[in-house]
Amino acid sequence: RAKEQGRNTYQFYTEGMQDREVMRLELDKDLSQALAHNEFVLHYQPQLDLDNAEIKSVEALIRWQHPRRGLLPPVDFIPLAEESGRITDIGRWVVMAACQQLANWQGTACEHLRIAVNLSGRELDDEQLVDHIREALKAENVPADRLEVELTEEIFIQNIERNLTQLSRLHQLGVHLAIDDFGVGYSSLGYLRDFPVDLLKIDRSFITEVTERHDDAVITRAVINLAHNLGIQVVAEGVETEEQLAFLKNHRCNLAQGYLISRPIPAAELERAMAQGLLLTRTTVDSE
Ligand code: C2E
Ligand code: MG
Ligand code: MG
Ligand code: MG
Repeated sequence: RAKEQGRNTYQFYTEGMQDREVMRLELDKDLSQALAHNEFVLHYQPQLDLDNAEIKSVEALIRWQHPRRGLLPPVDFIPLAEESGRITDIGRWVVMAACQQLANWQGTACEHLRIAVNLSGRELDDEQLVDHIREALKAENVPADRLEVELTEEIFIQNIERNLTQLSRLHQLGVHLAIDDFGVGYSSLGYLRDFPVDLLKIDRSFITEVTERHDDAVITRAVINLAHNLGIQVVAEGVETEEQLAFLKNHRCNLAQGYLISRPIPAAELERAMAQGLLLTRTTVDSE
């Protein structure tokens, strides 16, 4: 369209759009240096095992300590990094940082934890991804089953053959696979048959009103049953109330994650909370 318009294109650019474009370019330039300057940090959000009220795993969520703008959430830079391709290097850093963390936790109250890292579909473009993960685990002497990767359903829509190959190799290594934001992704269910999936994470949008809306309750129960019949475990995302937790427990959901249990927190804070048993206060909730 811009081409057709030729020299008149400028009229479509408002000042606001120019500002945004300038900001985007600036942010991309900062992003190019963020790894070298060691500005990324992982926060960890615990997942509560509803069978025994133990924290068995945590999700690693990236933040960027920007030199001028403060601590930025992923939404402010991950989409940009996916566009530019920098996501590949960021993803490698995330995997390495998670493996180092697992190694550092040896001998602490966190030593049994599994870490789940998020990967963008774009990161599966990297042919060396699986080799890199294997080497990161080996370098830190961490068993592969202490690591989990979370991918959204987008990977079942495009480059399916390639993605199946990558994920099968990863699964053979022993790394667990979770489908993130399950239920909002426009993909078919057939892939649950074809891909080596260990966990489904029910999207927060179904959980928010699960105790108020009949249809959300029906969908959540159906997903739990579907997953269990396929031998897949279920995590509920975005659990914020005791009522939601009780509902999920009653319907045999395996794990719960959300602000009710804990927000994503820095590693030091997690270690303190685990050592003091602070995250286990939810054990007192008995729904039956
Ligand atoms: P996600 O993987 O679905 O992560 C869950 C998001 O929901 C996190 O936001 C988390 O802070 C938030 N959350 C957790 N519990 C609750 C709750 O009870 N209520 C509400 N309202 N929100 C809750 P965050 O950390 O901003 O991450 C956003 C997304 O960014 C993630 O969604 C994930 O898709 C992406 N992301 C995070 N870290 C990475 C990474 O290292 N690599 C890649 N490629 N993507 C990442
Ligand atoms: Mg996730
Ligand atoms: Mg999610
Ligand atoms: Mg989500």
